Amino acid sequence: MTNPDSPVTSHSLDRDAQDSVATAAMLLAGGAYYLLARFGMALFAVQPANITLIWLPAGLALVMIHHWGRRALPIIFVASFAANFPGMATASLLNHIVHTSIAAGADALAGALTALALARRLPRGLSKATDLIPFGLWVCLLPTAATSLILTLNLAAGNYIPWAAGPEFFRMLLLADSLGILLIFQVYQGWKLSDRRTPEQWPFVLLGALAIAAILLIDFTLLPGTVFLITLATLALAFEVGLLGMALLSTTALLFVMIATTKGYGPFVAATAEESNFRVLTFVFSSALATLGVTLQSRALQATEKARSLWQEAAEHDALTDLPNRRAFMPRLRLEHERSTRNKLAYSVAMLDLDHFKRINDTYGHAAGDAVLKAVATTVLANCRGIDTPARVGGEEFAILLPETSSEDARIMLERIRVAVALLTLPIGTTDVSLTISIGVACSADAQSDCDTVLNLADQALYAAKRHGRNRVITCAQTTH
Ligand code: GH3
Ligand code: MG
Ligand code: MG
Repeated sequence: MTNPDSPVTSHSLDRDAQDSVATAAMLLAGGAYYLLARFGMALFAVQPANITLIWLPAGLALVMIHHWGRRALPIIFVASFAANFPGMATASLLNHIVHTSIAAGADALAGALTALALARRLPRGLSKATDLIPFGLWVCLLPTAATSLILTLNLAAGNYIPWAAGPEFFRMLLLADSLGILLIFQVYQGWKLSDRRTPEQWPFVLLGALAIAAILLIDFTLLPGTVFLITLATLALAFEVGLLGMALLSTTALLFVMIATTKGYGPFVAATAEESNFRVLTFVFSSALATLGVTLQSRALQATEKARSLWQEAAEHDALTDLPNRRAFMPRLRLEHERSTRNKLAYSVAMLDLDHFKRINDTYGHAAGDAVLKAVATTVLANCRGIDTPARVGGEEFAILLPETSSEDARIMLERIRVAVALLTLPIGTTDVSLTISIGVACSADAQSDCDTVLNLADQALYAAKRHGRNRVITCAQTTH
């Protein structure tokens, strides 16, 4: 007995299971949000303690909403609230809760606005270098400007900072959020674009990681300033490594540089924390953007190159038989003619035409005719050497270029093809169809002038074969004697 309800039930069960997986993943992402926020506060915090140089959670919030939609908003709010709460204590608990809630709301709003801007302005995400400017403007700067303003007003209103310090904090929040979005989103985009499935990039990623580690080590121990070579290393790697590998390398390397600066290492350390921060931020922004731009450009180049070779392959092959077509055949013939003029090794050209093919079409239909053409092409190809070029040069005409082959050797080989085709029996409907071909051959030794003459002579030999009763091979020598 069949239960008509069962497909629906199993479908909704599937959906329930998917929902629980999504909820679990969102909760994990919420945990990661909290940890990234605490990490930022622990390493790069300026007063008050929840203002950091780089706010990686901004990037994670964008990814979460981009991926799960508005369902992620409450999780972001709670994670941000938990992370901000300890650093936002005020005299009154109510004020503490209100200002932390406003901060957490602004963080969730930042995620919503950046995800909305991404969906509207760049529906295909960051996929080419020309996406970088709109991404920087619409996804990084403008939405975070709105939420940074809310955060700054909240800090001043809650007496965490003097009103006069507002502009400075606004600038800092804007940069910290934008940088967090840039560094995190490129990793997500690399993941989404699936270039993790090209394993040949991973040795280069390892090599890049080692090179960057060496650069950092030299910078912090012997030669401050070596760190600028990181951009050079990542740019060089951008042609070998996909977006995900590059994003991972660039994000980790730049985070290391920022951590080192806050710990007093490297060339960005200046007299005051503000000055150090400014120096390290300009480096991190320019390095991250340059690397990302070159990686996206190299992806676009690779895609163009792949499309070009696919088109070329299609343009040079016949769609029915997959043999090279006349466009591909003629340059090979010319090349062989030049080669043969130089090394004095004669080549031959054969022209093949199906006998009374029109009758096959008329009797069994065009589709049957196509099947016959394919079978003949397969037989021709199976009897050619690797250096030969069989091609479909007309409706039911084939040509074969036979390098380093005398007229007599060509005749023997073509006789083999003629017999093989004559022996073919193709089941079409209830009958077995058989057919024959006529072949004309010319050798470059017969016509010293140019390859068009050789081809013409082969064509004349083909017509001679037709005239003499079809199903035969005629050489140019036979037509002239
Ligand atoms: P001959 O022995 O003198 O060569 O006779 P024929 O009937 O083969 O020669 P003809 O030139 O009169 O007819 C060629 C036919 O080949 C006509 C055309 O419809 C058919 N043809 C050309 N290209 C294709 C194709 O791609 N598929 C099919 N099914 N038929 C094709
Ligand atoms: Mg024909
Ligand atoms: Mg023909």
